[in-house]
Amino acid sequence: MSVTVASLGFPRIGPRRELKTTLERYWSGKSDQGALLAVAADLRARTWARQKELGVDHVPSSDFSFYDHVLDTSVMVGAVPAVYGWTRGPVDLDTYFAMARGAQGEAHADCSHCCTHKVVDVPAAEMTKWFDTNYHYLVPEFSTGQAFALSSTKIVDEFLEAKAQGIHTRPVLLGPVTYIRLGKSQAGEVSREELLCAVLPVYEEVLRRLSTAGADWVQIDEPCLVLDLTHEDRTLLATAYGALAEAAPAVKLMLTTYFGGLGDNLDTAVALPVAGLHIDLIRAPEQLDAVLAKAPKELALSLGVVDGRNVWRTDLEKILAVVEPVARARDIVLAPSCSLLHTPIDLAQETTLDEDVRRWLAFAVQKLEELSTLARALNGGRDGVAEALAASSAAAAARKTSPKIHDAAVAARLAAADAALARRGAAFPARRELQVRALGLPAFPTTTIGSFPQTEEVRKARAAHGKGMMTDADYGAFLREETARTVRWQEEIGLDVLVHGEFERNDMVQYFGERLSGFIFTKHSWVQSYGSRCVRPPILFGDVSRPKPMTVAWWSYAQGLTDKPMKGMLTGPVTILNWSFVRDDVTREQACRQIALAIRDEVVDLEKAGAKVIQIDEAALREGLPLRRSDWQQYLGWAVESFRIASSGVADATQIHTHMCYSEFNDIIAAIGSMDADVISIETARSKMELLSAFAEYRYPAEIGPGVYDIHSPRVPAVEEMTDLLAAARSRLSTEQLWVNPDCGLKTRKWPETRAALVNMVAAAKQVREVA
Ligand code: GLN
Ligand code: ZN
Repeated sequence: MSVTVASLGFPRIGPRRELKTTLERYWSGKSDQGALLAVAADLRARTWARQKELGVDHVPSSDFSFYDHVLDTSVMVGAVPAVYGWTRGPVDLDTYFAMARGAQGEAHADCSHCCTHKVVDVPAAEMTKWFDTNYHYLVPEFSTGQAFALSSTKIVDEFLEAKAQGIHTRPVLLGPVTYIRLGKSQAGEVSREELLCAVLPVYEEVLRRLSTAGADWVQIDEPCLVLDLTHEDRTLLATAYGALAEAAPAVKLMLTTYFGGLGDNLDTAVALPVAGLHIDLIRAPEQLDAVLAKAPKELALSLGVVDGRNVWRTDLEKILAVVEPVARARDIVLAPSCSLLHTPIDLAQETTLDEDVRRWLAFAVQKLEELSTLARALNGGRDGVAEALAASSAAAAARKTSPKIHDAAVAARLAAADAALARRGAAFPARRELQVRALGLPAFPTTTIGSFPQTEEVRKARAAHGKGMMTDADYGAFLREETARTVRWQEEIGLDVLVHGEFERNDMVQYFGERLSGFIFTKHSWVQSYGSRCVRPPILFGDVSRPKPMTVAWWSYAQGLTDKPMKGMLTGPVTILNWSFVRDDVTREQACRQIALAIRDEVVDLEKAGAKVIQIDEAALREGLPLRRSDWQQYLGWAVESFRIASSGVADATQIHTHMCYSEFNDIIAAIGSMDADVISIETARSKMELLSAFAEYRYPAEIGPGVYDIHSPRVPAVEEMTDLLAAARSRLSTEQLWVNPDCGLKTRKWPETRAALVNMVAAAKQVREVA
């Protein structure tokens, strides 16, 4: 029996973020399309060759994208909304970028490649998170009577491009059922069935063309197979794959699932007329037996045994023990659990990481090496790769017992934790009375969410300090000056609860990660977030504790400048967890509780220093929701408890705020309620306060700051717009419950619009108080 290795997709951004650089040069008019295309072609060639060298048998093509693979699919099938001015024929690159980023008349003024450009002043398509990752895709938008037609041959072109370089690739296609499901239609009036039937001929055409070009296998991604599917969804899958099998019988489809187990969709999956099935054995190792029992012998099985979503080195012997018996019985393909898009590229670029932690890590390149080692062990015996296996086992053993990871004090503290740790002293009504007395705030108190504009100047100072070109003393003085000015200005315009502005923070998670033990940071290990935007998530590798206060000095400095209450400002445990690469040797739940204890220490210290109001942001609580509804309760249970552990160390008179920057609460409102925060601020301006209904129906007992203006745009709202929104809020909630604040932090805004908007916001609150 033979074992081969597949890659399901490789990071596109380039080892030195070459794609980012060239895209941004092109967008700003500094280089032309030729330069962009050349860099992209070079990146693709290097990526194919690299994977081949690493021992990959099934090298993917068309996993490359100038911006996003879902957008590529929309362009392939000609789903381009009318606003972009495209009629038919191949979709040009500028229309593609207009869909991705919007296009403005003035932005093109000095831009040579755009002077003949037809697209002006159009908004970007909506963007949202790709399943439970931090990668964002562009939401396909379907109109009534949506027609589809093959409008980009990228997938065929790239297959031929690789072929010309002597590399036979396995093209990657986003499956039609998942594609349609990811989209939205105007007013929701076009059914999925209609859309699917309309789009299938394009997919058929694509497969026929790939077949003619010489492709034998095509990877077709249907991650929707790990979601809760209805009977109708399953019928759609059967229809789709029946049609595709008939259209191009010579092309073998590798139906690829990831981010979870097939669960109750297993029967559907194995019944589809495809040649192969890829399953994720990292997220759902338990599904192997069921899949083996159901999968027909002739179905090629691809096993995702190396984690495509995390950065840890694989314990190869552990995997061999699982796959050896399978490989004796049938041909298998070994692969990462999903595309490597979600991991950094190459650990070799990190030359200054802690040596021990380094030995426990594997990025995209290392993961493919691991797969090739596994395949060699299975095909030719362990002896040929004895050294690599021994190194893997040694690393796994060292990690298991390393004192860098395991902190007995943290373990003891968690073991001693009881229910009381996650409970405030009194219930909300009693706390409220004490807080009203302690704070003496007017009705409709005004505040902001924490950050003030991170200007060019602030970023420059931070960069200079980071490079050692600005002394600690000078940088400290600069930050104090920014903070002082911001505090004074908030006083002047009459805000009620002030903030220090967060000028010292690079990022709301990184700032805390850098101050907690158990986290490590990379220098070059970027992961694409969307388009040209990349992030370097912190790596949580060990037990978490807080060696010393993280924010108290800044809070004290700021409070020293004013008699108004100054809010302490922290990032919550769930958000820190969800925006990091996390350990795979403890559960997310355990890791989250550890972070919660560390944040609790900070909350207690802020209170000791005199803080009467402390905000713990949980911006990422909702996005951590599991893909399957049946797993929600468990997640929400520990997520909420973690927040409560973090927030319950203070006296009843201390007011705990939380903030969430999104607007879908209907399905998690009970969990939000049980967080038991005294005040929650949320995003509501764009939904015109509609989402407050969820809070009203639930009879949310505590206080709420529904955002009265959208901070995502520089537009300054008039006083009247905000009084209207407040009136809408009052029709749903009681006067005593309401706070007045923007939707989210102001760090991405500029000062002029921030000043104007907040002055109007304070005026709106004053007007509403008068009539109340
Ligand atoms: N306190 C943070 C800020 O104001 C919150 C940001 C967020 O919720 N994303 O920037
Ligand atoms: Zn926010």
